[in-house]
Amino acid sequence: SVDQQPQPFGGTKEEWLEKDRKYVWHHISPHNDHPMIAVSGEGSWITDQDGTRYLDAMSGLWCVNVGHGREEIAQSAYEQMKALAYVPMTQSHEPAILLAEKLNDWLEGEYRIFFSNSGSDANEVAFKIARQFHHQNGEPTRHKFISRHRAYHGNSMGALGATGQAARKIKYEPLGVGFSHVPPPYCYRCPFGRNKDACGLECATIYEEVIRWEGPETVAAVIMEPVITGGGMIVPPPDYMRTVQEICQRYGVLLIVDEVICGFGRSGQKFGHQNYGVQPDIVTMAKGMTSAYAPLSATAVRADLYETFREPGTDSHFRHVNTFGGNPVSCRVALANLEILERENLVSRADELGYLLRDKLEPLLELSMVGDIRTFGFACGVELIEADGSPAHADKVMNVLASCKKDGILIGKNGDTVPGFANILTISPPFVTTEKELDLIAGSLLAALRSLDAG
Ligand code: PMP
Repeated sequence: SVDQQPQPFGGTKEEWLEKDRKYVWHHISPHNDHPMIAVSGEGSWITDQDGTRYLDAMSGLWCVNVGHGREEIAQSAYEQMKALAYVPMTQSHEPAILLAEKLNDWLEGEYRIFFSNSGSDANEVAFKIARQFHHQNGEPTRHKFISRHRAYHGNSMGALGATGQAARKIKYEPLGVGFSHVPPPYCYRCPFGRNKDACGLECATIYEEVIRWEGPETVAAVIMEPVITGGGMIVPPPDYMRTVQEICQRYGVLLIVDEVICGFGRSGQKFGHQNYGVQPDIVTMAKGMTSAYAPLSATAVRADLYETFREPGTDSHFRHVNTFGGNPVSCRVALANLEILERENLVSRADELGYLLRDKLEPLLELSMVGDIRTFGFACGVELIEADGSPAHADKVMNVLASCKKDGILIGKNGDTVPGFANILTISPPFVTTEKELDLIAGSLLAALRSLDAG
């Protein structure tokens, strides 16, 4: 039987599952007794222990942008490990310097780059830098942050404080203090009761009210993703981000843009904010920077803000260190990854693939279960609803995911804070995905949703 097939490390599948059940604590899932035990990847595909192939239509967790199995990235890691595996970032090394320079090109501005390990780390660094900047700029009372309901900014106490999804926070509170939230620019269910033709952009102008309520002299920064991805692919009106930035500038509040998902081509531009014509004060990034071949994140800080951290003869340096951040191997991997993105024109390819995916998913809108389809670059959310327009129940969403998995297609789900209301299917494939593979994704989704509609 399949169970008896030899595995790369030896042992039967049942033995592996038993060990997994006994020793491994899976992320998020309450109990996953039958996880896919993946052994290899190539392009947009992952192969499990049985030899079953799955189309990785979420690029893992929105991160394997250049696709799996890139020999030259593996080679770059090998070369760097041989030459120098580690030096702390209290010193420096060539891959970090080259990468920081390259990130400045990609950001189209002048930034200083602080390296960490994860998206959560990068956001924590942004919060600490924002607070310290205000201290050193003569406004020490500015310590608060404003983010949005439905946002996800990470798992650590500060980043979770910025997160606007109750279900992820309950049982872990109190979290980092000083975070308040405003309603998201969720046009499909506008929190201000508007429809698209009569948009008053209150979701943006409300920042001014909140800053005033809080007291501008207490507000350090606003943090936002260009598009709320994990909270359900919430794409703002075109003028939203620029309007928020104008308000921030008027009140001396910094704008932190979380590009952990939207960065490195996912949005169809190099960074998501470039779609909206804003230049953030601080940009955080992770996932697509290495396409997840190695852990690495960065916090890019406007060069002139950085200057307040180097006042001679004062205690103005940023008192923050992490052991692995800026690891030479990860930086070298990031350089190899960015080289591939550039050489293969994968950012513009992601943009084209996004339009193609949108076209292929369009027929879903005819189904009564599909309320809305939202795309941003090569990332897409399909909002599932009940007959009365309320969010689709969890069992139906799980049913669609299971049906697609049976077809060999891995898609995701995301959404609201209330358990059971994660009613938005998410699709965010590697940038090397072919049109034929997009057809497989769309076909599988259509079949799953049709059978639910019929039932
Ligand atoms: N910000 C955003 C927008 C994210 O989607 C995530 C992770 N999904 C994070 C931050 C946190 O990144 P990490 O899981 O690497 O800590």
